[in-house]
Amino acid sequence: MQEPIATLKTLVIEKLSGGITAIGINVPGHSQNVMNQDFMQELEHVFAFLQQNPPRGLLVESLRDDSFLAGADIGQIDTVWSLPPARLKELCDKGRNLLGMFASSPWPSVAVIDGVCLGGGLELALACDLRIATENHKTILGMPEVKLGLLPGWGGTVRLPRLIGTGPAIEIIASGDAITGSQAKTLGLVNACVPVHSARESACVLIEQAIASGDYLKRRSELQLPQAMDKPESDFLVATTGAVIVGRTKGNYPAPMVAFNTIMQGATQSMREAAALESKAFSELAKTSVAKQLVRVYRLRERNRSDCGLGKSAQLTPNKSLHVNELQMPSIVGAGIMGAGITARHVRSGFVTKLVDINVEALEQSIPTILEEAAWDRYYQKTNQERVGELTGRLMPSTQLSSIADTDIVIESVIERTDLKRQVLAEIESTVSPSTVICTNTSTNPIATLADVFSDPTRFCGMHFFNPVRKMSLVEVIRGPDTSDSTVSSVVLHAKRLKKIPVVVRDSPGFLVNRVLTPYLHESVELLREGVDPSRIDKVSRRFGMPLGPLELYDMVGLDTAFYAGLVMANAIGDRIDASPVIPALVKAGWLGRKTGTGFYRYKSTGHDAKIECVNEKLVDLIDPYRLAEQQMADDQIRDRLFLPMLLESLLVLDEGIVRDGCDIDLAVIHALGFPAFRGGVLAWGDSIGAAEVIRRLDQFKYLGPRMKPPARLLAHAESGRPFTLVEESGSHSRKAT
Ligand code: NAD
Repeated sequence: MQEPIATLKTLVIEKLSGGITAIGINVPGHSQNVMNQDFMQELEHVFAFLQQNPPRGLLVESLRDDSFLAGADIGQIDTVWSLPPARLKELCDKGRNLLGMFASSPWPSVAVIDGVCLGGGLELALACDLRIATENHKTILGMPEVKLGLLPGWGGTVRLPRLIGTGPAIEIIASGDAITGSQAKTLGLVNACVPVHSARESACVLIEQAIASGDYLKRRSELQLPQAMDKPESDFLVATTGAVIVGRTKGNYPAPMVAFNTIMQGATQSMREAAALESKAFSELAKTSVAKQLVRVYRLRERNRSDCGLGKSAQLTPNKSLHVNELQMPSIVGAGIMGAGITARHVRSGFVTKLVDINVEALEQSIPTILEEAAWDRYYQKTNQERVGELTGRLMPSTQLSSIADTDIVIESVIERTDLKRQVLAEIESTVSPSTVICTNTSTNPIATLADVFSDPTRFCGMHFFNPVRKMSLVEVIRGPDTSDSTVSSVVLHAKRLKKIPVVVRDSPGFLVNRVLTPYLHESVELLREGVDPSRIDKVSRRFGMPLGPLELYDMVGLDTAFYAGLVMANAIGDRIDASPVIPALVKAGWLGRKTGTGFYRYKSTGHDAKIECVNEKLVDLIDPYRLAEQQMADDQIRDRLFLPMLLESLLVLDEGIVRDGCDIDLAVIHALGFPAFRGGVLAWGDSIGAAEVIRRLDQFKYLGPRMKPPARLLAHAESGRPFTLVEESGSHSRKAT
């Protein structure tokens, strides 16, 4: 490496041989290179310098591992919300013009993309004449702005369609999903995908070729022009991609459709006109509450990423003071629905994983499911068979518990019977080494009930995954009465290595998620008893943004499981919410939901994927003995009946110190229940109404008794006007919290 000719805060300029200049990116203070104010200002200075010292060719690369440029600094986005649209447009134009200097300078430029290249980072790479991606598995390219309720505002919607075609560009921008370096090569988004060690050399070769042929200048002029798109092509895109977007967003997330329309309109205009459309669309999206909520949810995830579960002061890096262990060798005990899902997640995340089940048939049946799930290719939406072969060696199944003796984390996931779990956990402890962390995936057993079989309960906690494990990213890490800080933070770190979102919760009935879910489910059955049609209840919930209505959810979970969970929850909330007589009646009738083909609905078949045929016609007769006074209710009232109790329960959860703060509740309901992210979580939804209005709405449900009574915390919020989402971190989860 030659001596740099200038080292700025975020950029380093270096002269390479052959008159090529390299701009190296290294933004301090962030886990990824991001485009903050310093970066943008320095980029401007670098261009001024290059005008004075013109290179033959320009190379843009990152000076850190695995991070090319991850886009705009979201930490600085709050300034955006208060700006008037005209100012927002100006900001877009300014950023786009700055990046446009790559494409308007006389010399050719190439971006060397090694690691994360997202949002503005990809827009910068697109402004270069050429791009090289590396084969590094951490190299990803994408424009995730729609996931924040926005769209790319620095030329992404203009340059990407011109480079790879309108259809593929819409797919990338409107989905927000990232692709790998080799997928980018297939799409023509990069000119080559090469090993990391040869990337710079390949980039210099590309520059020399560009200088020799002068092709890059011709290409630049072509990209300025409108793209030819005939009516059948545009009709096809509207009917296919446009329809998919409508289906996916259900009208709740405006950004993907706005991106679609902006790209479609911009494609047939000059580059300058397309850019004006982009700025206008960005400035409009930045004014929506959806964008604000999605950015908040993003921040909650970021907070979670750097959180070790012990409170503000502790860091998540494995270090001596915290005794956080990077657990390398995991074992799962129980190869049922959950055990298989948890194992697949481990195998996919790179762990050699042991799996034990006493039932050889259950074990054998789980193996293909695990490997197929572990090798699932999200981009192509199918199992990658080649990958199945590669992953097979990572899975070590056995019927003998002795096979897990050398592991350093065990996750027990056998059937939900307290006596059996106690016996299995005791056997696990006597099999493994004294330093092994032991977790249970129990849904309903208090951790305290299981912890007393341990001779060392400090190494034991709950690690509660949600079904299906592949889709539900939340994991509750449940601290038992004696669980040590080291166990909690080691399990939190382990969950993160599985790309899950761990939330540490106190041991109490239903933990967090099932606790706040219970009043919602209960209310749906009460509405039925008051004469509201089942499909109407589910429709209102779906329209609110839930992926399934509450009665559909009952059928999916299974009425027997729900009945059992209801008994457990009666301990926690029985004084306010009576267990419904309808659920045991359904169980008695043998209507257990999808698995039996009948529940609240009748299904076309039995099993997990069964499709609804119609409402169960015999439900009316079953409910008859339990009918309550009939109520006429508007859809808005049904919505409030369902979701206000979830909000009230969340406030009680905060009072009881079950989670550290409301942020964890919002994160949990989004990632375990599918609570609509565009509403920001249940507490953010409460804030959108306001505590005083919540109390007013509850007043109309006074006749329902204690469950609709405003709790003290709600009254206090109404009095002070303080939002529910204002974070007051109380520190670590005290074992003694009550
Ligand atoms: P399951 O019935 O599908 O599987 C349980 C497995 O445990 C079976 O394969 C059985 O052979 C095996 N098993 C029984 N005794 C064993 C022993 N002594 N040693 C090894 N294996 C043994 O159950 P599941 O739905 O996967 O649930 C497992 C755990 O996950 C339960 O604690 C449950 O509460 C929890 N959970 C379930 C869900 C869900 O939706 N199914 C969601 C979250 C948590």
